[in-house]
Amino acid sequence: MTSNSDPTAVLDVRAVRRSFERPNGDALTVLEAVDLRLHRGEIVGLLGRSGSGKSTLLRIVAGLIKASGGDVIYRGQKLRGPAEGIAMVFQSFALFPWLTVLQNVEAGLEAQGTAPKEMRERALQAIDVIGLDGFANAYPRELSGGMRQRVGFARALVTDPTILLMDEPFSALDVLTAETLRTDFLDLWTEKKLPIQSVLLVTHNIEEAVFMCDRILVFSSNPGRVVSEIKVPFQHPRNRLDPRFRQLVDEIYARMTARASTYGRPAAVLSIGERLPDISTNLLAGLIEALASDVFLGRADLPLLADELSLAIDELFPIAESLQMLGYAEVAAGDIQLTTIGKEFAEADTQARKRSFARQLVTRIPLAAHIRNVLDERPGHRAPRVRFLSELEDYLSDNAAEETLRALTMWGRYAELFTYDDDSESFTIVMPESTDR
Ligand code: ADP
Ligand code: MG
Repeated sequence: MTSNSDPTAVLDVRAVRRSFERPNGDALTVLEAVDLRLHRGEIVGLLGRSGSGKSTLLRIVAGLIKASGGDVIYRGQKLRGPAEGIAMVFQSFALFPWLTVLQNVEAGLEAQGTAPKEMRERALQAIDVIGLDGFANAYPRELSGGMRQRVGFARALVTDPTILLMDEPFSALDVLTAETLRTDFLDLWTEKKLPIQSVLLVTHNIEEAVFMCDRILVFSSNPGRVVSEIKVPFQHPRNRLDPRFRQLVDEIYARMTARASTYGRPAAVLSIGERLPDISTNLLAGLIEALASDVFLGRADLPLLADELSLAIDELFPIAESLQMLGYAEVAAGDIQLTTIGKEFAEADTQARKRSFARQLVTRIPLAAHIRNVLDERPGHRAPRVRFLSELEDYLSDNAAEETLRALTMWGRYAELFTYDDDSESFTIVMPESTDR
């Protein structure tokens, strides 16, 4: 079957696979057998955890990188590089700081060889549509984050794309700014002020997906693959407080956590490059205590727990995931349950908690064990942070590596597994002369 046989299909991703070579020469398979299709008139959400390969897939669809296998069919042809009609909005604004807003937007057209006069007209129009009028001659540094991301949108829209790819475009913005930009975009979309036929929105935010999309594809991790599809039956504008909206969010949440036990890897095979969320030990301990309390007796339905703690489900998710990674809880089918070690932690005093945390870190988180080993082996028991950062960057993007090392530093300090000195940016362990740890 070709996409021609389905008149509403505008893009067809078939059996796409992508692997990267690891520093040791092994292949890391990030995407496997990815199938998805975009139809005319829909916003499709791709919902998956960080590190599941969403950006990689989007870059393949944009023609920026090649797939290792499979095809992307666009306008009935195999895609071989960037195609006219496919544009992308990135998570980080990626603007040229030395160019004005107008020039940044025009840059979106340069690859197409548009004549200067037409380029200017179209750029001004895109600037107008996206609500940046009056800012054409400003430089990015003069703009707020929300305005900068509007420039990112204008730069994609100026090309009159058929397909708009968006890679977590709202995630770097504060809550209110993000919501304004989402709503403005949806207004343009529903009023058909854009030539776009279909949108593929990558997100790790369930609420955002339910707020914006007509169809949500749930993406698994390790390797990334579309594992289920959810139709969103609501008209725009949508109301986040509508009980049916809440129910759908909870349902998707349950599906994603059910998936974690079916498709996720056991903690024992985490790699040094496993991405860690930047979650404070206070939050981790707080969630363990809440779960151990008389209200929950060690087990809770995640959406209920989120309500009880006044957290959005998307805020609770990474905390629950961290507890699972550390062996303090199990998450499955929308429930979280403390393990025996988790229950012991809840009962313990501060010192015993720290010992427990140190034990869980070195046995469950390879990066923690690695840092500790290096420090143990070095005569001065000291190692610069940058050493571990560059190791992590073999596995993770620069930002993810920073965040992971920041999280681990915070956790290791709490557990007294090592200390970290901000001035010299190095890790050390204090080894009392005659005591063995
Ligand atoms: P997501 O966008 O879902 O957070 P990414 O697509 O950015 O995920 O990354 C998925 C995985 O692929 C990560 O483990 C990442 O480290 C790895 N990866 C991405 N790009 C490269 C690359 N150029 N080289 C090696 N590994 C990469
Ligand atoms: Mg990404």
